[in-house]
Amino acid sequence: MHTFPPFLALARRSLFAACAILLGLLVLVLAGCASPSSRSLEAFAPMPSDAPPGASLRALALAKSLGRGVNFGNMLESPREGDWGLIVTPQLVEATAAAGFNSVRLPVRWSNHALAERPFTLDEVFARRVESVVDALLAKGLHVVLNMHHYRQLDGDAADPGDMALEPALADERFLTLWQQLARRFRGRGDRLLFELYNEPHGRLDAARWNDLLARAMTVLRLHDPTRVVVVGPVDWNNARALAALRLPNDPHMIVGIHHYEPFSFTHQGAPWVKPVMPTGVRCCDAQQQAAITGPLDLALAWSKVNRYPIYLGEFGAFNAADMASRVDFTRTMREQAESRGFSWAYWELASHFGVYDPATRAWREPLLKALMGPPAGPPDRP
Ligand code: BGC
Repeated sequence: MHTFPPFLALARRSLFAACAILLGLLVLVLAGCASPSSRSLEAFAPMPSDAPPGASLRALALAKSLGRGVNFGNMLESPREGDWGLIVTPQLVEATAAAGFNSVRLPVRWSNHALAERPFTLDEVFARRVESVVDALLAKGLHVVLNMHHYRQLDGDAADPGDMALEPALADERFLTLWQQLARRFRGRGDRLLFELYNEPHGRLDAARWNDLLARAMTVLRLHDPTRVVVVGPVDWNNARALAALRLPNDPHMIVGIHHYEPFSFTHQGAPWVKPVMPTGVRCCDAQQQAAITGPLDLALAWSKVNRYPIYLGEFGAFNAADMASRVDFTRTMREQAESRGFSWAYWELASHFGVYDPATRAWREPLLKALMGPPAGPPDRP
């Protein structure tokens, strides 16, 4: 066997070591040249999406258990709780459970309650506040869909008044890191807590970007919470027409959420955040408007049958500029049409401008509540 004299062997080892150090430095320099977000996104590999297996029996059962639900809107997804005139109170939780709802969708503006810079640590006081709301709802026997809402930079939108200044280039990485923290924080809760990755992706979040980001988020969630059921929806504000572009990761514990506000000229008449503001006085529901209601639901049902994941109608409702009789007609029609297709649902929303509940008088708007909760019940089994 050929051997080197000791001093040559030493020189050779030093040369190797020097090369290795140089190579390491080169890698670091190259990594430093990458954009901050692309560099750090590499830490969150996307879950493969070549063969989504269809929903697990548990996901199917939970989708069914969500049943009839309501959104706790304009509370925790305002820039700070209370900014939009509402906070979650024990009385609202109590009233919701007593009215017979099965579930609550809980929108939360997590993005406004964490460090703007790495490591994006969640504000402990706020996180505990949300935990206490989740626990209060769970204690009433309700199912809770805890989501992430209005991370404006993620969609490329302008910040709202009251939003903290956030760097758009960090939005994807920050979104993933927030989910990492949330998965850890809520790991101990039972099955009745579900996560929803993001409300109504749109704008900058086109299908390609959203499919990639949600696959990375699923990797992060599964590292910390392997089986919690997760709701995910398509782009274009969770529009059923965008389901065709949704690529689900290879995970069985998922439910697919859609939102449905058609006919839009009816549901959003007079709403100040829709520009230009649409004229009021539009009634509902003639045959054409009924078709606008059933069309997207049919699309969703067809998608669900082919892809074997259940559908959850996470938002529908009509702004209070419409006349009450039409709102009631719309609400009943939408609810019946969803249930006849086996979709659980959550009305938008409890106690603000679409509200089924009047917080000032602490009373339900009975015609709306009846449109949601009245007979017939018993959604048939899902496909
Ligand atoms: C938004 C609300 C809006 C509602 C109806 C929700 O997803 O978060 O701000 O009022 O849709 O447009």
